[in-house]
Amino acid sequence: MRLALLGPPGAGKGTQAARICEAFGLPHLSSGDLLRAEKLKNTPSGKRIRDYIDSGRFVPDDLMISIMRSKLVSVVRQGFVLDGFPRTLSQAESLTEMLASLESPLTGVINLAVAPEVLTRRFEGRRVCPVCLSVYHVDLMPPQREGICDHDGAALVIRPDDMPAVVRTRIETYHYTISPLLEYYRKARLLWDVDASGSVETVWSAIEAHLLEIGR
Ligand code: AMP
Repeated sequence: MRLALLGPPGAGKGTQAARICEAFGLPHLSSGDLLRAEKLKNTPSGKRIRDYIDSGRFVPDDLMISIMRSKLVSVVRQGFVLDGFPRTLSQAESLTEMLASLESPLTGVINLAVAPEVLTRRFEGRRVCPVCLSVYHVDLMPPQREGICDHDGAALVIRPDDMPAVVRTRIETYHYTISPLLEYYRKARLLWDVDASGSVETVWSAIEAHLLEIGR
């Protein structure tokens, strides 16, 4: 299965992508995680990426596409779940070309739709582990010990781009760029809309049932 997940920041793309990967044995390619890993390297492109991410703006398409291309080539035979990529029409078109040249087109695109007030609440409680990048939520997905990562014991932090002003920019940017992308995948008959306002479990049940159906 070769899937892409779309949805605004806070829609639960990372959480649902991780569930899909675990259930179906697929590699998880998160554009945000790949960029954050690049950002930690003290390279010129790492510094460039830092400026974009910390202010909530999109990383330029050429840079993003080249990072994803090198990852995709190495996993394409196993199938994959893309999380956070594509985010612009130009990225979607490049992805189609890339996958066509690898004779491995997308199986489907899952669009996680969430009401704005639900998004705001999710962001307020989101915490991440600075070491392994695991994501938690103080109410919805708390760690076993308050403020501490279950996996490595590191103190959890608020991501700089989860600060309220930056979140606003990220959500606005998302809505501005997403319509042509939805249209593109709807026309290609690849888009599947999921109401992602509910709990992690409710959303996961809907996704799992659909994927089992199309995998039959
Ligand atoms: P995320 O963890 O998916 O919310 O991504 C965090 C940040 O990484 C975004 O706010 C953007 O600055 C950047 N980013 C992630 N994916 C992309 C993408 N496909 N295109 C451009 N920038 C991206």
